[in-house]
Amino acid sequence: MQEIKKALFVKSSAQMADCPEPNLPEYAFIGRSNVGKSSLINLLTQQNHLAKISTKPGKTQLINHFLIDEAWYLVDLPGYGWAKVSKTEKAKWKKMVNEYFEQRQNLYNVFLLVDSRHEPLQIDLEFMQWLGENGIPFSIVFTKTDKQGKTKTQQNLAAYKRVLRKQWDELPPIFATSTVTGEGKSDLLQYIRDINNSVKN
Ligand code: GDP
Repeated sequence: MQEIKKALFVKSSAQMADCPEPNLPEYAFIGRSNVGKSSLINLLTQQNHLAKISTKPGKTQLINHFLIDEAWYLVDLPGYGWAKVSKTEKAKWKKMVNEYFEQRQNLYNVFLLVDSRHEPLQIDLEFMQWLGENGIPFSIVFTKTDKQGKTKTQQNLAAYKRVLRKQWDELPPIFATSTVTGEGKSDLLQYIRDINNSVKN
């Protein structure tokens, strides 16, 4: 597997207009708070503290850009679904994220993270629906597969797909990951690499 060699924090932006020049392919990571997004970004980039692992709600909601191997941007988007977030904060999140998704020209794929232990949640399904309706390419990344046995993970994923099939004719690409075992890391990196290569050619 070709690992990421260099990952640099570029900037945090409070709005789409402040994001770096859209001159490289970009991949965004998003999901409910606590889904394991920071851990996954750190696993992919092989840096322990690149994305901040935090279980505290109410952090400033920022779009974080990381430059990977001087070739593409990895974007850490603020999580959603905090229980104790005010309506104003939720509205701010929505405006920022919607603007980003609707306008970011160099966005090649969104990785939507969902916890492999949970049943499909309305908030995630609605978000996928919105991405689909807006023509934004996305993949589903199941996280924390090490938290249960392999069979249980497979059962959960199969159940999730059954629910998705009610909503979609064609399922998006699906990845199963664990930051404990490293499962899914090479698949995700390969997926990104393939898209980057197809853009270059
Ligand atoms: P974020 O809020 O989505 O960025 O989630 P974090 O990366 O901060 O992770 C939330 C919690 O889940 C932390 O306690 C992590 O250590 C834990 N976690 C994240 N990924 C995994 C995983 O793959 N396996 C296990 N067992 N725990 C994980």
